[in-house]
Amino acid sequence: MSAFPRSPARHGAGAVSRIHVVGAGLAGLACATALAATGRPVTLYEAATQAGGRCRSYGDARLGCRIDNGNHLILGANPDTFRYLDRTGGRDGLCPVAPAAIPFHDLADGSTWTVRPGAGPLPLWLLDPARRVAGVAALPHLAPLRLALAGADATVASMLPLDTPLGRRLWRPLAVSILNTEPEAASARLLWSVLSQTLLKGEAACRPHIAREGLSEALVDPALAFLSGAGAELRLPARLRALEVGNGAVTTLRFDGGQRVDLSPGERVVLAVPAWQAADLLPGLRVPTEHRAILNAHFRLPAPVAPAPAALPGGLPLLGLVGGTAEWLFQRGDVLSVTVSAADRLTGEDSDTLAVRLWSDIARALCLPDACPPAHRIVKEKRATFAATPDVVADRPGPRTDLGNLLLAGDWTDTGLPATIEGAVLSGHRAAEILLRDQIGNSAAATRRPSASRTL
Ligand SMILES: Cc1cc2nc3c(=O)[nH]c(=O)nc-3n(C[C@H](O)[C@H](O)[C@H](O)COP(=O)(O)OP(=O)(O)OC[C@H]3O[C@@H](n4cnc5c(N)ncnc54)[C@H](O)[C@@H]3O)c2cc1C
Repeated sequence: MSAFPRSPARHGAGAVSRIHVVGAGLAGLACATALAATGRPVTLYEAATQAGGRCRSYGDARLGCRIDNGNHLILGANPDTFRYLDRTGGRDGLCPVAPAAIPFHDLADGSTWTVRPGAGPLPLWLLDPARRVAGVAALPHLAPLRLALAGADATVASMLPLDTPLGRRLWRPLAVSILNTEPEAASARLLWSVLSQTLLKGEAACRPHIAREGLSEALVDPALAFLSGAGAELRLPARLRALEVGNGAVTTLRFDGGQRVDLSPGERVVLAVPAWQAADLLPGLRVPTEHRAILNAHFRLPAPVAPAPAALPGGLPLLGLVGGTAEWLFQRGDVLSVTVSAADRLTGEDSDTLAVRLWSDIARALCLPDACPPAHRIVKEKRATFAATPDVVADRPGPRTDLGNLLLAGDWTDTGLPATIEGAVLSGHRAAEILLRDQIGNSAAATRRPSASRTL
C-alpha cells in the first residue's frame, strides 16, 4: 500500500487544507477550477487516461481525424458554462450561431424551415411565418407556457400536444434532445426548466454554441492548463476504489494500484463521478439508476464528394431532421455527424447497419449520393444521461452527504436541470461555493477573496 506523493499547499505547507476532487468530467473540472481560482490547493483524480468524461474529443484511427464522443450543443442561456469558460479561457473554443437560428428539414415531405426567435421575451417574432415552423400558425407555438403548471409527476406528453404538426416538427424533437428521454415518459417540469430559460427568453438565450475544433479543445484542455497554472495537482489515471469512513467523515481515499490518501481533519472531498460509481462508493446513497443512450455517427467525407456540402443549408453548422432516424446533423469541416437521443432501441444494431440507415437520412436531406456511406464511426454511449422521468428525477440527491467532509457533484445531482453540460458545471460550482462558504481553508486566503459567489 503506497501513498500518492503530496505537494505542500500553495500558500505555505499546511496553511490551507487541500480539497480532493474525484472525477475530471465537467462537474469535477468546474469545481476544481473554481476552487483553484481562489487559491485553494486542489488535487483532481480521474480514472480514465484523459479528462472530460462524457464530453471529450479523441483521435479516431479509422477516420484519420479527431472526433467528439458526441455532438454537444451549449445554449446562450447556460450562465455557469460561460462563467467556467471565461475562467479557463475556453470561450473562444465555442462558435455561436448568432443571431440564433435552428434549421429543420422534414424527411417525410422535404419541407424546410428555420426557427429564429426574436430579441427579448415578447414573442412578436411568431407573427412572421418565415421565423416559425412551416405550415403552423403562431398561437400553437405558445403551448409550452402550459408546462409552467406541470406537477412533479406530469410527463411532457401529458402537457404538450405531440400528435399535431407542431408537436411532430418542434416539441417532440426539442423534448427528446433536451431530456434524452421519450416525451411519453419524460418530466414536463424538467423541460420547463430549459424552455423557460431559452425559447421564452428570446434570441440570445437560444443561441446554439458548438465546439469550434472539438469538445476537449474548448471545455477540457483550457481547464487543465488553468489548473496546472494555478498549481493544482492532476492524478490520471487514478480510479477511486473505496472510501474509508470514521466519525462521520471520510478518512482515507483508496485508489486502484493500492495507492491511498489519508485525509487531515480540514481536508474535503468532492465526489464528481457518475451516479452508478457514486452509489458503489457510498452504499445506501439514493441516485438515479435508469439511463438513456445517445448514439452518434461520424462520417468523414471523401475529398471530392459531388456536390460537396460546403456547409449545411443556410450556411449553419447544424440541422434538425424530422421523420427519419437521424435527429440532428452537425458539420465540422469534412466530418458530418449525426445524433440520435433516447437511442436505446438502436444500441443493439450493428454499426454498419446503423451507418447505412443514418447516411440515407443525411443523403436525402443534403441531396448527396445515397449508395454507400463514407468512412464512419458509430459511438454508442449507453448511459449517456439519467432517464429524465419524474420517478428518476425524484431520486437526485443534493450536494451534501451524511459525511461532513464529502460533497457530491455531477449532472445527476439535483440541479433542477436535465443532464447537460450546464447542469454538470452548475453542480461543480455549487460544491465549490459550499466549500468556500463553509470557510474551509485559512482566513488569509479567504480575506484575499472575501466573496465565494463573486469568484465563481
Ligand atoms: C453523446 C452525448 C451527447 C451529449 N450532448 C449534450 C449536449 O448537446 N448538450 C449538453 O449540455 N449536454 C450533453 N450531454 C451531456 C453532458 O455530456 C454531460 O451532462 C456532462 O458531460 C456530464 O459531466 P459530469 O462531470 O457530470 O460527468 P462525467 O462526464 O461522467 O464525468 C465523471 C468523471 O468521473 C470519472 N470517474 C468515474 N469513476 C471514477 C472513479 N472511481 N475514480 C475517479 N474518477 C472516476 C469518469 O471517468 C469521468 O471522467 C451529452 C452526453 C453524451 C454522452
